[in-house]
Amino acid sequence: MHKQFDVLIIGGGPAGMAAAACAAECGVLVGLADDNPRIGGQIWRSGCMDTSSPASEWASKLKSLRVEVIPETRVFQSPEPQKLFAEGPSEIYQLSYKRLILATGARAPTLIQEVDISDRST
Ligand SMILES: Cc1cc2nc3c(=O)[nH]c(=O)nc-3n(C[C@H](O)[C@H](O)[C@H](O)COP(=O)(O)OP(=O)(O)OC[C@H]3O[C@@H](n4cnc5c(N)ncnc54)[C@H](O)[C@@H]3O)c2cc1C
Repeated sequence: MHKQFDVLIIGGGPAGMAAAACAAECGVLVGLADDNPRIGGQIWRSGCMDTSSPASEWASKLKSLRVEVIPETRVFQSPEPQKLFAEGPSEIYQLSYKRLILATGARAPTLIQEVDISDRST
């Protein structure tokens, strides 16, 4: 499926939600893709279920501003400028945009421990 936006945001954490609201308030067509079933990112994902939480208020704001939230959709490739491919639950999306905002958050560095694989005593 092909979707086209003025502003496309990848990542539905606090940063992506704020960026989406800000862009939509300017009157442009905004899409927000996140690879989780619910937006909210690392700290707000569970909070979107509680209607009194800031996360839920932001989610409602995005709805009222007509931001198109595309959940369970992971962006995996940029085949050419202004275009991304993303994998949804049942199909591949082609997402076109005029402006792109990456709000994919941060990850803790993986701790790699040195393991002596020659020691098979345990
Ligand atoms: C290890 C760790 C511990 C933290 N602990 C705390 C804490 O205790 N308290 C606190 O206030 N803050 C904590 N933070 C910081 C917290 O993550 C940030 O404050 C906040 O979540 C950042 O918001 P964000 O929108 O930038 O990113 P995130 O909340 O990470 O949101 C990014 C979103 O983008 C999605 N995404 C990523 N790649 C793709 C892709 N290719 N396609 C589609 N979607 C994608 C992710 O699934 C996620 O939903 C912690 C961060 C880390 C890394």
